[in-house]
Amino acid sequence: MKRLPLLTGIAPLLVLAAACSDSPTGIDSADGTALETARPDITPVVTPLSTEETLDLLHMREEEKLARDVYDLLYVDWSLTVHDQISDSEQRHMDTMLQMVELYGLKDPVGGNPAGVFTDSSLQDLYDQLVALGESSAQDAIIVGCIIEEVDILDLEETLARTDHDNLESAYASLMRGSENHLRSFVATLESMFGVVYEPQYLSLDRYEDILDADGNPGGYGNGGSDGGGNGGNGGGDNGGGNGGNGGGDNGGGSGGSGEPGGNGGSGGSGGNGLMDGSC
Ligand code: ZN
Ligand code: ZN
Repeated sequence: MKRLPLLTGIAPLLVLAAACSDSPTGIDSADGTALETARPDITPVVTPLSTEETLDLLHMREEEKLARDVYDLLYVDWSLTVHDQISDSEQRHMDTMLQMVELYGLKDPVGGNPAGVFTDSSLQDLYDQLVALGESSAQDAIIVGCIIEEVDILDLEETLARTDHDNLESAYASLMRGSENHLRSFVATLESMFGVVYEPQYLSLDRYEDILDADGNPGGYGNGGSDGGGNGGNGGGDNGGGNGGNGGGDNGGGSGGSGEPGGNGGSGGSGGNGLMDGSC
């Protein structure tokens, strides 16, 4: 089994991703919004965010867009199920962040920006570098997924530590659980497709191993081949069950099992049905 060399050239990206202090413009004050003025003894529905909380929220809103946009683009390039599936999840993360942006009366940094365009210049730079890496090979495209999820988890950890708003805490915690699932899926897919063992670039080894162990080893996403289907991953771990389906068919690719968090069990992938040209 090959070992993945450390991508030292990517290390500066973390700095870029973490540098949100000079980020988005157009922050509206949330002071005084949505207070129940007629009933002074009632807890306000929305308590204003600090400047730091505001910047963090806007940064996370765009960071989720970065993940979605990169995965969408790489799916077009490589047709790997893992990018397609996780892109959908990133859209939901974006939606969650938008709800918070609107709740606090902030100006959405995404606005009408098309895919690949970012208000925060550090995220723009990160996007450009990750796309360049991901377009170089299918293996690198999966590694890009691992990198994005690592950075996302670290940023969410820092962001969580800086807020004392319960609704933001639960929103960020939810995104973090999603990111951990995504990281496990990319890591498993990298190993199942290429026999490459991913080594964390940013997370501490302890934290990384905790994440990987949390729900066992969820399956990677199988990828259909043109001659015979891909093999689905094994879903679930300690608490989850489910085996990925085996893709079948002369020309059809099976879609692999997606590992789900423990408790619900991994859902097995559906086998291929001999679809033309391995689309899954
Ligand atoms: Zn996300
Ligand atoms: Zn993610």
